[in-house]
This record gives sequence, structure tokens and C-alpha cells, in this order.
Amino acid sequence: MTGETNQYPHLLEPLDLGFTTLRNRVMMGSMHTGMEDKASEFPELAAYFAERARGGVGLMVTGGFGPNLRGAFYPGSGMMTSSRHARQHRVITDEVHDAGGAILMQILHAGRYAYHPLSVSASRIKAPINPFTPFALSDRGVRQTIKDFGRCAALAREAGYDGVEVMGSEGYFINQFLAERTNKRTDAWGGSPENRRRIAVEIVRSVREAAGPDFIVMYRLSMIDLVEGGQTWPEVVALATEIEAAGATIINTGIGWHEARVPTIVTSVPRAAFADVTARLKPHVSIPVVASNRINMPQTAEQILADGKADMISMARPMLADPEWVNKAAGDRADEINTCIACNQACLDHTFTRQRASCLVNPRAGHETTLVLGPTRATKKVAVVGAGPAGLATATALAQRGHSVDLYEAEDHIGGQFAMAQRIPGKEEFSETVRYFTRQIELSGVRLHLSTRVDADTLADGGFDEVVLATGVVPRIPQIEGIDHAKVISYAELLRGEKEAGQRVAVIGAGGIGVDVSEWLTHTSSPTLDLDAWEQEWGVTDDESAPGGLTTPVAEPSPREVYLVQRKTSPIGKGLGKTTGWVHKASLQHKGVQQITGATYERIDDDGLHLTVPDKPVRRPRPTGVGAVAAKVPGSRQALGAVTGVAAKVPGGTAVAGKVPGLLPPEPEPINRVPRILDVDTVVVCTGQESQRELVDALTAKGIRTHIIGGADVAAELDAKRAIGQGTRLAAEI
Ligand code: FAD
Ligand code: NAP
Ligand code: SF4
Repeated sequence: MTGETNQYPHLLEPLDLGFTTLRNRVMMGSMHTGMEDKASEFPELAAYFAERARGGVGLMVTGGFGPNLRGAFYPGSGMMTSSRHARQHRVITDEVHDAGGAILMQILHAGRYAYHPLSVSASRIKAPINPFTPFALSDRGVRQTIKDFGRCAALAREAGYDGVEVMGSEGYFINQFLAERTNKRTDAWGGSPENRRRIAVEIVRSVREAAGPDFIVMYRLSMIDLVEGGQTWPEVVALATEIEAAGATIINTGIGWHEARVPTIVTSVPRAAFADVTARLKPHVSIPVVASNRINMPQTAEQILADGKADMISMARPMLADPEWVNKAAGDRADEINTCIACNQACLDHTFTRQRASCLVNPRAGHETTLVLGPTRATKKVAVVGAGPAGLATATALAQRGHSVDLYEAEDHIGGQFAMAQRIPGKEEFSETVRYFTRQIELSGVRLHLSTRVDADTLADGGFDEVVLATGVVPRIPQIEGIDHAKVISYAELLRGEKEAGQRVAVIGAGGIGVDVSEWLTHTSSPTLDLDAWEQEWGVTDDESAPGGLTTPVAEPSPREVYLVQRKTSPIGKGLGKTTGWVHKASLQHKGVQQITGATYERIDDDGLHLTVPDKPVRRPRPTGVGAVAAKVPGSRQALGAVTGVAAKVPGGTAVAGKVPGLLPPEPEPINRVPRILDVDTVVVCTGQESQRELVDALTAKGIRTHIIGGADVAAELDAKRAIGQGTRLAAEI
């Protein structure tokens, strides 16, 4: 592959590391897939990496493996501590090398982020996102841990890896020693900045000594901690120069601790938002530096390299979304790339709920050996009705397999509800998925019929072997007195620009769409498109003396007064994604959105929206003690087993609370309701959706083989992950 005639010459240029040369500047950053924990799943992990190696990625990094028991992420998580482990990894390294790739193993010591009672850190300070309090590591423990990193690297070499990445960022163990926030030690490993960074430097030295000179040692360096009590910029620079001197080959960029209250990778973070941080470090070292975070398309990556901001680009999730990313860029086919939209819904949200990581736009990710879209042996004529995510995924995959496909769409454009999602400020990336399918329709030969609302007769006359109904959903209209008042509009009417909202607005229904609509109503510009405004809203600064790179946040004021209302008494946004929900909630808070829970809708009239609400905040009964911990912590059942000896035997952590006397939740308090009128100009209805299934019975009556997918199948808890996943699986079977 050569970049000479290509639009992305810097990206495709080989990187000479002295003892080895990487074929280009694209690195697939480390992601925990869930397959790292069981050696029996290594063949699947190998297939996943090999597919990306064949796709042209220059260098890949595995998910994290612990260097010792205390550093393990959770009980049973992957470790590299023996020659037996090294032998088990051979299948991964062999397959990657056979596919022409290079791969590093990440060494991850979780420190106080470990979900088990044996965790250790610099000091005995609990992380706000973990119920377990770590032990402060003794001086002997520190020295042993440094040796364990070295042993781990030597074993990685034995396993056939091309190198290791030492995880020194995101608030994990090493980062905990580096920052005053978590390091209160007074011995040789704490106090002064020199002492705090000693462990990081000694670990790199130990790794280099153990693994030899011709082995890639990449250090992931926290360039901006984004937490109070984090490192200052001079501390970061001093660390980088010492890490280079200790023998690192490459410095990778880490951004923000997991407990940081600044989003770092969600879709509302502007593209390449942190490339300038890497650029500031680059002149201080002579080894290659890697830029990271929210870089997802070749033009963005190329620009960073062309501007001399970094030597290599790390993209993790974009390689889940499209394993052929590099080959497509190299072939000047960027318009064919299935772009990562940074939704986190099938990757990080899965990881944090202990499911295998996959991808919303590419359900094959992590399932390469079981979800196979091979050529069909018997070509069929198939009609797909509806060009939302479900229909698009089905139609294009069917055509790629060799079927003859007609895709009917009632609107004059494709995308369905997803085309509305891309209008939300901070969700502009969603348009990439619509662009991707537009191109795939052209390439695969799907016959697209826009502005065509088909009926059963047309389908019957079309001579189709099979029909796929992907007719999706329509907004639910709730039974509220005055729902047909002129001030009531649906979210679809608002987002399509068919109706306008006034200055004071009530949004009823606070699911994903209610929250998104509130974002729409309270923004004048998009956070994704305005880096300065985004940095101000989240309090990110390049002031070199600011610990953690934080300053006081200042959000742009909302142009409207907005109330977000729901009937449930649970906190608003509870059902949102694990890794994205908090960002939406914080954003609504920045914009002053007033949240009302436990509401009953009485009527809507000229005075506004009439509600009754509880006269005081409803205290929801909660399990206490061990059960409460188990309910909150993903995967804590096993961890708690070690503590209590009970939880591991009980399916579901909450069940523990119900079974142990004294841990039963208290009785709920009685609720008195009081009337409240929201004097608003507009009520936007976001109360869920209903399936569009009117074709089902007519097609069944005509004896046509019909499949129903996406929102047309089940509207409840529908999202694009389910729609695309169901469509792709169906296409693999037809
Ligand atoms: P739809 O998207 O509803 O598509 C159905 C299509 O069928 C429509 O285009 C319709 O015109 C067409 N059609 C219907 N009947 C006929 C007919 N008889 N003939 C021809 N065509 C017909 N999901 C996420 O996963 N993550 C998000 O962050 C997210 N954000 C969202 C934000 C907003 C504002 C909205 C509105 C939705 C969001 N969603 C999100 C939800 C997601 O868009 C839907 O889950 C998804 O679009 C459902 O896909 P579908 O193909 O089943 O149905
Ligand atoms: P939703 O999440 O089911 O929320 C609908 C809300 O309407 C509920 O919270 C419910 O709250 C309320 N409601 C339901 N029936 C009602 C009725 N009859 N009268 C009054 N209120 C009623 O659905 P959605 O917000 O429409 O979103 C659709 C799907 O899109 C979601 O499932 C989600 O997965 C996806 N989506 C995801 C994101 C994301 O960021 N990941 C964003 C947008 C959409 P109460 O009953 O408490 O009032
Ligand atoms: Fe990207 Fe979303 Fe896929 Fe994760 S699930 S890789 S964030 S598109």
C-alpha cells in the first residue's frame, strides 16, 4: 500500500521505529471486548483482530491484561502472569501476523478502579465510581509491582506480541501515583512531582529491561487528567521526557480519568478535540507521539499528521465500526467507510454492563465467526419496506450477498427516525450512517424507490419471494385532555421543521427523545461544531498551571425556558446509556432545564400544561448494605462472592438485599399530590412510539413470506442498535 497518489499521504506513510517499521500511521487503540477474560474465546478474539489486520491497520493494541492479581480489573479478568497464559495468546498473535498486522498487548493495572476487595493504589482513597476502597501499597508492594510489569512484558514477548502498551492514563493505577488527588504518600513514591512519577518511570525501565531492545514499548500518558488535583502541564512534560529516557518507543495520548466529569469520547465531543494537547507535548520528546480521541474519518486524521501535531493516529471504536477503514482510505473510498458515530451503545455500554463489545453500526464486530454475510447460494427477489436503520441494514446486506432487492421508502429520503436524530445538536455524526447507507445502496445495486408508500397489493404483484417489513414507528399520542390544542406538537413535527416552539416549552416524556429534544430547544449552536464553546461549557483549559487542565465551566445560556416532565418518580435520564447518560444530564443542568418527575398530566389549555405533582420529593426505597453495592456495580456478583460468600450464589445482586434479614428496603412514604400549571407556549410530545404494522395482516392473508423487524416488530425500548442488529441477522439467514 502506498500513499503517494492518495488523498491521505501522511496517514499511509510507514513509521520507522528503528528495529521495525509499521506499515502506516493508523493504530487501533485498546478496547476491552470481553473476550480477553476466557482463553476459550481467544480464537474469536483472534478472528476479530485478524479481520482488522487484513483491513490494513498498522498497529493494534489488545484490551488490558493485568500484571498481577491485585491489578486485575475484576475477579476472572484477563491476566498475563505465566507461561501458560503466554501459550494461550499464541492463537491471537499468529493470526494477526499471518494477516500482515502488528499487535501490542496492553498491560493494565486497574489500581483503585478494580472491582474487587484486594485492590491497591498509591493511597487508601476510594474512587467515586467504585464501591471498593483500595489498600495503600507498601514500599515492598510497589517494588514487586514494578517487577510484575516487567515479567508481564517478557511473557507478552513469549506470546508473540510485537510489544506492549503500558496503561498510564485514564485514572488507572499508574495515573493514581502521578496525581496529588490520589497520591498522599510521604515516602519515595509520593510528595514531590519527581517522587510521584517515579513508579511510572521505573515500570517503563523494568518493561524495557525484561523484554529486550527490539520490542515496542508504548506508554499511554495522561496528557490532561480532567480531574481536580490532577497533574499540571509542566508535570506532564517532565513525565514524558523521563518516560522516553526510560526506554519507551512511542508515547500514546490518554485523555481524562474515568471519574472525570468532562466527556472525552461521546458524540457531542468535537472531532479531534484533544489533538492540540498531543501537539503541545510533541516538541518535548523525540520519539513518536500518537493523537487520540474522537478521530473517526481519514480527513481528520490526515490533517492532524499534516499539521505536525502527532506522528500516528489512534482510533479504537472506528475500527469496530469498519474493519476495512484503512483499505478504504488507501483506495480513496472514504465515502464507503462505516463511520463510528461515537454513540457508545454497543461498545462501551456493553463493556460496562459485562456484555461482549460490538458496534451499533456494525453488529458483526466481536461476532466475526458467527455472524457471516457470505454470498448466497440461491438468489431470491426480496422487497424491503422502509428505509430506516432496520430496512437499510437488511437491504444492503441482502444485496451484498447476491440477492435481488427492492427497497421502498414512503419519504423522499432514507434514514427513518435516524434522519431526525442527526438534527440534535451534538448528534451530527449520525448523518454519517445515512451517508454510508446511501453509498452502499449504490454499490450493492439495491433498487431504491423513494416517495413510495407501498401497499400489500403492490407487493403481491411484484413477484417477490420474501418481503421484509421495516416500516418502523410513529410517535405515540397520549390520551391527555387538550392534546389537540394548537400549542401541542410532536417531536417529529418540531425536528422536521414543520412546527416551531415558543419561548417557554414543556417537553412531556423524558426518554431518550425527550432528552434530545430538550437539547435541541436549549442550544443555539452545536457543541460538536464549536470547540471553543464546548471547552467553555465543560471547563477545559490550556492554562499550563491548572491542575488537571480544568477551569470554571461557563455554558452558553439557553434561548428558551424548558421543562422536562415525566410520570415516573425515578430520576430523569435513568434509562439512558451507561457511559452517555451522565453527559446528557449534565448538559441539561448547564442549560437550566427544569425537571419534573412523578407528574400526572391533567390537561392542556390556553393557560398551559396542568399537572399534579408530589408535594415533596419522592424518596424511592433502596436496598441497603451489600445488596445496594451489588445492584450498582456491573459484574460485582463475583466480587462480592469473595466478600460475603453469599452473593455469588444468588442470581442478581439485588436479590441479596431481599434475602438477608435487616437489609430489606423501607416501606415507601405516602404521597400527597398538588396541582401545578406550567405556563408554556408549546408542549412537545415525546411519549414513545408505536409500531407501524398495517401491512402485516394483509401480506399474511395473501400468503406472502413476511419478516417483521425493527420498530415494526417491537416499538418498546427500540433503538438503532436493535434495528440494525435484527436487520443484519435476518439478512445473513435469507
Ligand atoms: P424507522 O426509523 O421508524 O424507519 C421506518 C421507515 O419506514 C420510515 O422511513 C418510514 O417512512 C418507512 N415506512 C413506513 N411505512 C412504509 C410503507 N408502507 N412504505 C414505505 N415506507 C414506509 N436510536 C439510537 O440507537 N441511538 C440514539 O441516540 C437515537 N437517538 C434518536 C434521537 C431522535 C430524535 C429520534 C427520533 C430517534 C433516535 N433514535 C436513536 C431511535 C432510532 O432512530 C430508531 O430506533 C430507529 O430509527 C428505528 O429504526 P426502524 O428502521 O425500525 O424504523
Ligand atoms: P422511551 O425511552 O420509551 O421514552 C418515552 C417516555 O414517554 C417514557 O419515558 C415514558 O415516561 C413516557 N410515556 C410513555 N407512554 C406514555 C403515555 N401514554 N403518556 C405519557 N407519557 C408516556 O422512548 P423515546 O424517548 O421515544 O425513545 C425511543 C427510543 O429511541 C428509546 O428506546 C431509545 O433507546 C432510543 N433513543 C436513544 C437515545 C440515546 O441517547 N441512546 C436517544 C434518543 C432515543 P413516563 O411513563 O415516566 O412518563
Ligand atoms: Fe462507534 Fe457506536 Fe459502534 Fe461504539 S457502538 S464503535 S461508539 S458506532
